[in-house]
Amino acid sequence: EIEPMDRIWEKSWTISWVKEGYQHGRDPLFHHLYTNTIRHRQRPAIVFYGQIITWDELRDLLMRAAGGLQKLGVEKGDRVYLGMQNCPQFVISFFAAHCLGAIVTAISPAYKAGEVRYILNDSGAKVLIIEESVVPVLNEIKDQIPAVENVIVTSLDEYLPSDPYPAFPADLMSKGIKYPGTISWQEFMASEPLQEMADVDINDVALLQYTSGTTGKPKGAMLTHMNLLNGAFINTAHTANTVDTVQVGMLPMFHITGMNDHLLTTAFLGSTLCIITRFDPVAFLQIVEKYQANYSVLATPMVIYLASHPSFSEYDISSLYNFGIGGATLPQAVFNKYLEMGITLCEGYGMSETTATVSFNPIEAAKLGSIGLPMPQIDLRIVDIDDLSKDVPIGEEGELWVKGPSCGIGYWNNPAGTAETFLGDGWVRTGDIVKMDEDGYLYICGRLKEMIKSSAYSIFPAEVEEYMYGHPAILECCVIGVPHEVKGELVKAFVVLRPEWDGKITEKELIEWARGQMAPYKYPRIIEFRDSLPKGPTGKVARKILKEEEKQRELSC
Ligand code: AMP
Repeated sequence: EIEPMDRIWEKSWTISWVKEGYQHGRDPLFHHLYTNTIRHRQRPAIVFYGQIITWDELRDLLMRAAGGLQKLGVEKGDRVYLGMQNCPQFVISFFAAHCLGAIVTAISPAYKAGEVRYILNDSGAKVLIIEESVVPVLNEIKDQIPAVENVIVTSLDEYLPSDPYPAFPADLMSKGIKYPGTISWQEFMASEPLQEMADVDINDVALLQYTSGTTGKPKGAMLTHMNLLNGAFINTAHTANTVDTVQVGMLPMFHITGMNDHLLTTAFLGSTLCIITRFDPVAFLQIVEKYQANYSVLATPMVIYLASHPSFSEYDISSLYNFGIGGATLPQAVFNKYLEMGITLCEGYGMSETTATVSFNPIEAAKLGSIGLPMPQIDLRIVDIDDLSKDVPIGEEGELWVKGPSCGIGYWNNPAGTAETFLGDGWVRTGDIVKMDEDGYLYICGRLKEMIKSSAYSIFPAEVEEYMYGHPAILECCVIGVPHEVKGELVKAFVVLRPEWDGKITEKELIEWARGQMAPYKYPRIIEFRDSLPKGPTGKVARKILKEEEKQRELSC
């Protein structure tokens, strides 16, 4: 029995489908989510360390958060910034903002002051919803973020049950940290529920997904409601993604892969999401065993690490059927180890600008080393890099171009960057060099863009260099990726010191300083001092030569 129809339901899309006929793709994802809350009622929507939030409860939380945002004056088109690790509040805040037609931007809570300042000012975010650990960073920049009007601070243990299972990381428990003028999550959630959702067009921007380009500073890829809906819909082509799927969400939901797989797809399907705050191998195994989880997406370095973890064989994870992976090469032995347990590891490929999944390996015919077959609704071109009007034949390498309803519409406030990547006729240049085999499987062969992939995070050398130049000792700096067995690549910086600093600073000290400037996945783990760096004809540091030198060194080891 359906509960008495509230105003939202009365005015809802489902009712209008009945009246006016269903138009495919007209309704944004948060409409589908709302419908799912009514469809699934008492079924678990979210499991958080043993705490079950049903779809009914999620609807109530969502409407309260939306009411809270409305009370703060959030209107259609305003930007709402989320800075938190995985937790129920992320799901609630993300879709609550959409109910008002606001645009979400979600960033790693580990970002340092310079990184946060840049993104807050670029996006012009008006309301921030952050976990406690972000408060000290915000304090550092509070006079430099004029657009920010309200800050809601939440603790990660807000929805923790009294007896959490698996154990919740002790360092993430609330410390009661407050920001001046802060609104607590409880105060915020005490708001009257939203009575009427904003009129949102499917082509309105829903998300600014910050990612870098070759030019250094991050750019906000503009993804519309249409993109998010289709990003989720395309993902349902994974064999394991159904309404009955119990998914473990351990990838960060602020990154597009975790966001699409964990957040968008489960919202679309009405399936269950078991949230783990951050990478925690034992928690992962415990959750799979307890909730009979059958699907997850992890970064390749994580599945490698997990397979070698002492607890790996202690838990029954036979319910797992399929893992999506990506970001680094998977050794055959690891692939086999999972296969022997009935788990197929399927590599996929995607990027922020395409709302993630572009290609994925079919579960019954996964090819190791390949990023899989193109997903439904996705058109591809593999373009000759010397003549962009031509496609290369099967088996030859070219740049991958992608077109489809999940492809974004440009970069926020950045027409020059937009013109380079979004070609106007729907094609998005990926900057990745790929080839396709006779069976239609795609393989990554290299990158045109300067990007380092470490623990599946994308790192842009120019951005790291810019932060490195903030140290007075550095005269010249060049950042590259060097191969690493587990992480895929490690960030390495070649540095020329100013003469007056010679002998006054060590590599170790510089690494320690860099740790304070950038998110943990970005700062260089290796620094090599040089007397000079090789230059190209225009006087620019020749990154290519340094990469080649490193490759030779690797080969001679
Ligand atoms: P991001 O926008 O941070 O998700 O980064 C997207 C980029 O990550 C792509 O353009 C690729 O260069 C890289 N990438 C995506 N999937 C894979 C994969 N399976 N293996 C290696 N690199 C990948």
